[in-house]
Amino acid sequence: MIEVAIVGGGPAGSYCAYCLAENDVHAVIFDHTHPREKPCGGLVTPLAQKLLPFLKKIPIEHCERNKIYFISPYGKRICLSYGKSKLLCFSRLKLDQYLINMAVNKNAQLINEKVEAVERKGGLWKVKTTRKSYTAKTMIGADGVSSLVRRSTIGPLSRRNKGFCYGYFVRGLEKEDMTIKFLFHKMGYIWVFPRAEHTSVGIGCPDISRSHGLKMELDTFIEQHYPYAEEISRWAALIPSVKTNKTFRIPLAGPNWILIGDAAGHVNPIVGEGILYALLDGELAAQAVVDDSPQLFNKLWKETFGWKLFTDVKLMKWIYKKPVLELYCEYLKFSSFIRPAFSVLA
Ligand SMILES: Cc1cc2nc3c(=O)[nH]c(=O)nc-3n(C[C@H](O)[C@H](O)[C@H](O)COP(=O)(O)OP(=O)(O)OC[C@H]3O[C@@H](n4cnc5c(N)ncnc54)[C@H](O)[C@@H]3O)c2cc1C
Repeated sequence: MIEVAIVGGGPAGSYCAYCLAENDVHAVIFDHTHPREKPCGGLVTPLAQKLLPFLKKIPIEHCERNKIYFISPYGKRICLSYGKSKLLCFSRLKLDQYLINMAVNKNAQLINEKVEAVERKGGLWKVKTTRKSYTAKTMIGADGVSSLVRRSTIGPLSRRNKGFCYGYFVRGLEKEDMTIKFLFHKMGYIWVFPRAEHTSVGIGCPDISRSHGLKMELDTFIEQHYPYAEEISRWAALIPSVKTNKTFRIPLAGPNWILIGDAAGHVNPIVGEGILYALLDGELAAQAVVDDSPQLFNKLWKETFGWKLFTDVKLMKWIYKKPVLELYCEYLKFSSFIRPAFSVLA
């Protein structure tokens, strides 16, 4: 019998398994995809590093910058400086592998099998994979935006609460500045995030119904600014983008199950930051399980970072209007002088 089954070995699942193992609770992670490069910017903000200091010390190759450039809706280039703090940019192939190893080295187990179904039976969970069936006492859904565990508990994250991203991994931009170009008409942005060995260039739109033409918009931007970029691969991906706080009021944990990370919809709707919330969720879910009260998670996440997501869901409605976004960019410039380590980005 498995003590805690975790479906999904992204940052949420592996860090949860690690935190459980630290408390002598044995967890089994199911994930068939590793090693893999997840479509992602890979940006880890100073706030994430402040809340989870181990992120600063991860001994894998990554890119570090203390500045990021914003291109405003009226085309102004604004530099946001973080002073002594750094923005870190990781390849998700390396970051996720590192987090899995952290968990496995602490005695968690990784089973490289895809979960096809989960079912509650007599107070236990049946986990059916492509190879066999397992029984678990507690189930943690860390299986991303299209979570099977979420579908089997509270129902899927609706289309309205998902955004769409398109992009490339390219070579040749590793020395370039980290850059974000805001797009008020798409309510999203284009990013250029150099990493150690390649660069993530993408475009994101929090509203799937507005995502028509994203590829063309990104290709034009690359052609204008980085004609020398050399494509390695291209991708398209969904991202949670919760539109109303009603969605966040749905319980994310029951007597023997918890949803965390993207499966919980915990991504900042304005900037798309999700790695921080995935890791915090992993830690909080482990705390709830160790306290023998999975439902405690419903309270813990709201107390820890709920205010930030609730506020940004409300802000999202007006921040992507052209003049407001221009003012927001001015504010970013101003905040760069007054409080380098406390950016709105994080
Ligand atoms: C294009 C894009 C750019 C982004 N950029 C950034 C950024 O720069 N900074 C930032 O902080 N956040 C960013 N995010 C958000 C961030 O990637 C996610 O919030 C974060 O990865 C969530 O972690 P997770 O562990 O919850 O889910 P995931 O990282 O999605 O991991 C889920 C895991 O579950 C596995 N899985 C799914 N179904 C099954 C199954 N049935 N059986 C077994 N395994 C399964 C998957 O293979 C995957 O490995 C970005 C997202 C996207 C889409």
